[in-house]
Amino acid sequence: MKEFAYHRATQVSEALQLTAQGDDVRFLGGGTNLVDLMKNGVESPSRLVDIRFLPLAGISETEHGALLLGATTTNSDIAAHPNVRRRYPALSQAILAGASGQLRNMATAGGNLLQRTRCAYFADPTEPCNKRAPGSGCPALAGAHHNHAILDWSESCVATHPSDMAVALAAFDAEVRYETLDGSGYLPLTHLYRPVGVTPHEETALPEHALITGIALPSVATSLRSSYRKVRERASYAFASVSVAAALDMRAGQIHDVRIALGGVAARPWRAGVAEDLLRGAIATPERFRSAAATELSAARPLRDNAYKVVLAQNLIEVVLTELAAAGQP
Ligand SMILES: Cc1cc2nc3c(=O)[nH]c(=O)nc-3n(C[C@H](O)[C@H](O)[C@H](O)COP(=O)(O)OP(=O)(O)OC[C@H]3O[C@@H](n4cnc5c(N)ncnc54)[C@H](O)[C@@H]3O)c2cc1C
Ligand code: SF4
Repeated sequence: MKEFAYHRATQVSEALQLTAQGDDVRFLGGGTNLVDLMKNGVESPSRLVDIRFLPLAGISETEHGALLLGATTTNSDIAAHPNVRRRYPALSQAILAGASGQLRNMATAGGNLLQRTRCAYFADPTEPCNKRAPGSGCPALAGAHHNHAILDWSESCVATHPSDMAVALAAFDAEVRYETLDGSGYLPLTHLYRPVGVTPHEETALPEHALITGIALPSVATSLRSSYRKVRERASYAFASVSVAAALDMRAGQIHDVRIALGGVAARPWRAGVAEDLLRGAIATPERFRSAAATELSAARPLRDNAYKVVLAQNLIEVVLTELAAAGQP
């Protein structure tokens, strides 16, 4: 590992100033992704600015009923929080479906959103990879890609985003709040990750050197039920082959509100807006859920070895929405 300087910041302004001093300075959250990447030579920062001692941990409720998750709150604390479990169960379930207890105790909310892809070529500096070394090529396109994207990929990169938490946050219309030396701002989670295009190394729409300070979860109706389901190659300690975060609000037998987000299918959490539009106002039946899921997935462009994800995604949407509809009946 390349030698690096370590600085423990205690004020947000201090962290921002230190990080703006160079392109190779990185914020350190729990370090569960960044430090791994430093060990295998994918990342080689000259300085780490430890942000875990900033006053950014904790979960609070705003006057408008939104829940604010501080950026350095651990994944475990978010998953266990009574308000998260009661109002946003899909988020708690998504976090608990990821990594391990030890990792979730270390991992932070901000770091989870900005964790890097699990594409094996990206993690191996002896291989070409447009995301790690722009312009060097994408060996996954014709190589090992059974767990790569089926939606919205480009010839430059077919990787997926690995975060489970981000998928649930996308379904709940969460907002990512950040600060830079020029001031503060926010991005809807669905706009946090850039479309892949020809610049897969430019992953987010955050301004340069931005520090994520928190995530806002808008208030939801008490009648909105939600659930997260993840299919993976092992029962635990594995990233999603496909996952779904879904929420359903049934009123008088009709679908009043529906949210669907998919993981493991694209370089960002995939909000299934086409299916949602078809379902809103409709009577809930498994056939209708199946048909809406099929229409959503008609946009998929599977690679040579991952067409199984199209069927998997359709089935997951149908099963989870059918269960939520049954649970919502009086
Ligand atoms: C064996 C293993 C299995 C895993 N399985 C899963 C899984 O199934 N599902 C899943 O979702 N995840 C999984 N993970 C990933 C894990 O969730 C992430 O490593 C973790 O969430 C990253 O959080 P962190 O705080 O440790 O981030 P770090 O490693 O500290 O940081 C990650 C990146 O985010 C940047 N960063 C951190 N905080 C901020 C901030 N506030 N503002 C701006 N930039 C910031 C850092 O500079 C770095 O670039 C797994 C990890 C391992 C090692
Ligand atoms: S899919 Fe993306 S991350 Fe993987 S090798 Fe291709 S460019 Fe790199």
